[in-house]
Amino acid sequence: MAEVLVFVDHVDGAVRKPTLELLTLARRIGEPVAVSSAPVQRTPRPLAEHGAVRVLTADAPEFADYLVVPKVDAVQAAYEAVSPSAVLFPSSAEGKEIAARLAVRIGSGIITDAVDLEAGEEGPVATQSVFAAAFTTRSRVSRGTPVITVKPNSAAVEAAPAGAVEVLQVSFSERATGTKVVSRTPRESTGRPDLTEAAIVVSGGRGVGGAENFPVVEALADSLGAAVGASRAAVDAGWYPHTNQVGQTGKTVSPQLYVAAGISGAIQHRAGMQTSKTIVAVNKDAEAPIFDLVDYGVVGDLFEVVPQLTEEVKARKG
Ligand code: FAD
Repeated sequence: MAEVLVFVDHVDGAVRKPTLELLTLARRIGEPVAVSSAPVQRTPRPLAEHGAVRVLTADAPEFADYLVVPKVDAVQAAYEAVSPSAVLFPSSAEGKEIAARLAVRIGSGIITDAVDLEAGEEGPVATQSVFAAAFTTRSRVSRGTPVITVKPNSAAVEAAPAGAVEVLQVSFSERATGTKVVSRTPRESTGRPDLTEAAIVVSGGRGVGGAENFPVVEALADSLGAAVGASRAAVDAGWYPHTNQVGQTGKTVSPQLYVAAGISGAIQHRAGMQTSKTIVAVNKDAEAPIFDLVDYGVVGDLFEVVPQLTEEVKARKG
């Protein structure tokens, strides 16, 4: 069976969930081989436990000291060593940049932001959700080795013990060390999951009425272990950080559950959340367009409904 290269996204060696989802998808189209730029003692185990038949590890200071090019060099070295039938990346900003650079180097076509992947007679077929999720397309790369980036939450994480660990030898090109990272400022942690990767997202909009009311949204999010999102109206008003904006000009999320509180459902907001598996909305206007796409809709005042929902979730969790 052909091998499929999977780029490992990690934070200080801790493998991120979208990579484990990629391994599930890779198993549909071949045998996953993970390529990791994390210290060898940290990443292999979760990768091997989730179906990577081989884990290629390259540990070098260049990965942290410079921008993405050393990682492109590492993936290219793995590509040359493995001759895979496809190369998969998570659809993060970094994943997409590395994928694009690799595709140019190896003369391949690239598909970005896939939401599903399946085996096809002439190569893997990727599903994308395009034009504000108004259309679903299925496409495949027709030139070279398919390079495909996949959005978080596109597949379940499945355990599948496999795996041997091998050291990958990488020699870095001159351009890899062209831009040095001189300092890093860690983002302040909220203790909540990352918005784009979260399985549940609870978002607030203009209906929340002010920054001082956002704790109502946060309380529901925390009861569900969810990330907090916001509409552009809410972030433009300064009620919530821009990094939490969901939509066309914000983040695209595709969680198992999306709860919209006080959000009307403008097309630009829908563009960022329409592929969520289950959508719930609370809005006091029964005519709000968000109700056209919900699985469950509550017509009511969010300040009455959301706290009750939070209490109910807490009570059921015991
Ligand atoms: P509104 O449309 O004002 O809706 C507020 C809703 O809250 C109403 O439906 C109201 O009935 C309800 N409500 C009020 N009070 C309560 C209450 N107490 N309880 C329950 N419900 C209540 N928007 C985004 O979100 N993300 C984007 O990325 C984005 N990008 C854009 C890009 C461009 C180029 C443009 C032109 C616009 C973009 N927008 C984006 C803006 C978008 O068009 C809408 O203006 C915005 O989404 C509206 O946010 P909202 O739903 O919170 O506010």
